[in-house]
Amino acid sequence: MSVTAVVGANWGDEGKGKITDLLAEQFRCVVRYQGGSNAGHTIINGYGKFALHLLPSGVFTPGTINVIGPGVAFNPDNFIQEYDELVAKGVPAPDIRISDRAQIVLPYHKQLDTLEEERLGNRSFGSTRSGIAPFYADKALKIGITLGELVAGGSKRLRERIAGAVAAKNVLLQQLYYADPIDPNEMADWLLAMADRLKPFIANTTTLLQETIASGESVLVEGQLGALRDPDHGIFPYVTSSSTLAGYASIGAGVPPHSINRIIAVTKAYSSCVGAGPFVTELTGDEEDQLRRLGGDAGEYGATTRRPRRVGWFDTVATRYGCMVQGATEIALTNLDVLGYLSEIPVCTGYLVEGKVTNEFPATVQLEQAAPVLHKLPGWQCSLSHIRSFDDLPPQARDYVLWIEQAIGVPVRTISVGPQREQVLYR
Ligand code: GDP
Repeated sequence: MSVTAVVGANWGDEGKGKITDLLAEQFRCVVRYQGGSNAGHTIINGYGKFALHLLPSGVFTPGTINVIGPGVAFNPDNFIQEYDELVAKGVPAPDIRISDRAQIVLPYHKQLDTLEEERLGNRSFGSTRSGIAPFYADKALKIGITLGELVAGGSKRLRERIAGAVAAKNVLLQQLYYADPIDPNEMADWLLAMADRLKPFIANTTTLLQETIASGESVLVEGQLGALRDPDHGIFPYVTSSSTLAGYASIGAGVPPHSINRIIAVTKAYSSCVGAGPFVTELTGDEEDQLRRLGGDAGEYGATTRRPRRVGWFDTVATRYGCMVQGATEIALTNLDVLGYLSEIPVCTGYLVEGKVTNEFPATVQLEQAAPVLHKLPGWQCSLSHIRSFDDLPPQARDYVLWIEQAIGVPVRTISVGPQREQVLYR
């Protein structure tokens, strides 16, 4: 009985999609358990290049059951579009089950997200404006609509539930944002029109996962964003609205907490961050431009928004903390190949906060004042993309990996040296 979690140790975009795609064939189910289509996982494999937003990264692996769990913010338009695009590109129709308990991101969530970011102006949170915060707020307010309500209970009940939710939204829309009110009937029509298309995918995924695990088969749960975007443990308020931690998979997917026994924290060999908030090792000027241009598979730009990612050196303080709150049992280190242009590679070993050096990751109010303490490691100055064994890496690259392992205190088991599926080595 075992569940493996693939989660982010940092701010997101660590390369979780690639690692999940790589591992998927070893698992019966691959599960998304939190977040929505507000971030993307880039996957490059035999079918082409994909940016998955809502679909689990097991969709390319035949025989895998791909589950969208109750904790996910499910956007029906995005789901249908992503599914159709995948099949149009020649990927065999994947087996996908969406929890009947998952709730739906409605058009007004997106509208309210956008209006609020605009109202906040330069105090905005850098939201992707996909409706995620208003969606989770409605879940807490208990006025969200579940997928199960599209297929059972009848349209009268659904219309009443939507009318109840919309009443308060309309006051907000008109009085705070000076926008037009929502017509609850139009909203219900929009949802009901989607029901037939979604029906074949809607299922009781909790029982499916519990039975799969009880029968001895393995499940992979795939996190979105990273530890530092967790609303409780991250850089609040510059966080996302659902927990990004492996521990939350027991809730967002519906698996026994004690079944999650392998936690792979994915981290880049440098740092990258989309959105607002303190980012201690952030680079500027030429150093920033160079790392952004050479990073990722085609430069460091957001998979969903194409926003330029902020980039910086590897941050041991943030990553050790991220691995700690994830409960990491191992690390997958990605993008090692990217650093091949440097003769010396700076790494952050501590933060200078209020005149003292610390290696504890502080709360946001102190983090905002932190300056990085940097140490330089020798670079290898060559390409690593073709290397498939740890022993074949240049000694400086091996030492860089070992240095990170020592600094974080978690074994680095997987090393990624390029965006393609096969560009990987194991230790
Ligand atoms: P995720 O959301 O954690 O899956 O990460 P993203 O897909 O948003 O961002 C990771 C970026 O790094 C993507 O552009 C990947 O194609 C790319 N990538 C992943 N692993 C590697 C690697 O080892 N080397 C390089 N150069 N790019 C990588």
